[in-house]
Amino acid sequence: MTDAETTPRTGKRVLLANPRGYCAGVDRAVQTVEEALKLYGAPIYVRKQIVHNKHVVRTLEAQGAIFVEENEEVPEGATVIFSAHGVAPEVYEQAEQRSLRAIDATCPLVTKVHHEARRFAAQDYDILLIGHEGHEEVIGTAGEAPAHIQLVDGPDGVDKVTVRDPEKVVWLSQTTLSVDETLETVARLKKRLPLLQSPPSDDICYATSNRQHVVKEIAPECDVVIVVGSRNSSNSVRLVEVALDAGARAGHLVDFAHEIEDAWLTGARTVGVTSGASVPDELVQQVLAHLAERGFGDVEEITTADERLTFSLPQELKRAMKAAAAARG
Ligand code: SF4
Repeated sequence: MTDAETTPRTGKRVLLANPRGYCAGVDRAVQTVEEALKLYGAPIYVRKQIVHNKHVVRTLEAQGAIFVEENEEVPEGATVIFSAHGVAPEVYEQAEQRSLRAIDATCPLVTKVHHEARRFAAQDYDILLIGHEGHEEVIGTAGEAPAHIQLVDGPDGVDKVTVRDPEKVVWLSQTTLSVDETLETVARLKKRLPLLQSPPSDDICYATSNRQHVVKEIAPECDVVIVVGSRNSSNSVRLVEVALDAGARAGHLVDFAHEIEDAWLTGARTVGVTSGASVPDELVQQVLAHLAERGFGDVEEITTADERLTFSLPQELKRAMKAAAAARG
């Protein structure tokens, strides 16, 4: 007997977005902490939240990871992992001064933007970095070339931009922005600076774009879209905004299923469910179980992309794992 046959038909349904949840960069960062704990034992220090998700952070804490804000909080000589969002070069220097064993879990797609920033700064460009002020990724990227980079925080930030030479300007962006809002920001920038150059390849990453694309597909049919993700997760917050812009009648961000309020479901026939790139799927499954208990047991998965990208662990960790394996014989 199929699930459909066992689930009583209530006329209520869930549209489940795919792709959703973990991206290749988050998967790699979480694995980096887990493998470092296995290799070196607890505690392992992690500068900032390894990824912006409460559940992931709590789970790694239970395994022996200690999350700190800055390198100064890490005892000299200890192991520190830098989060998936990337760090400014000075953070590596501080780690070296404190003789920390640093492992860099920066997502390779963030590292790519750092390289672009360095390259354009070396050619003396003014770099307009589109992103959210105060976000760790933006602080890290801006730290690559502070004298050349100015932040443009969305379309409203465009008027504040001043450049030295309008023929030598490029825009780059944070990886987890709203694709549509960024296009709008760029269009406004180009009105002011017609010779503005674009990044050599998209800075908004595949995972961010794919999750936004599928939520746009389902949103018009949804009375409410529930996004699983933490409030400090840029791409999760964007998913709620994208869902609302695309026609969902309501949208809510929750870390856990128990945060879903019954009032959100009152009168709803179709509930959309998705999750940010730092969210393990077990949290989504808990949301689906919660919804099924409230009559939303009929789940249709809507797939708009097939993601196969994976990243290998940081080189420094792989080398250490190999050396440990060789020493064990
Ligand atoms: S959201 Fe994109 S940039 Fe951020 S970790 Fe995932 S793949 Fe990398």
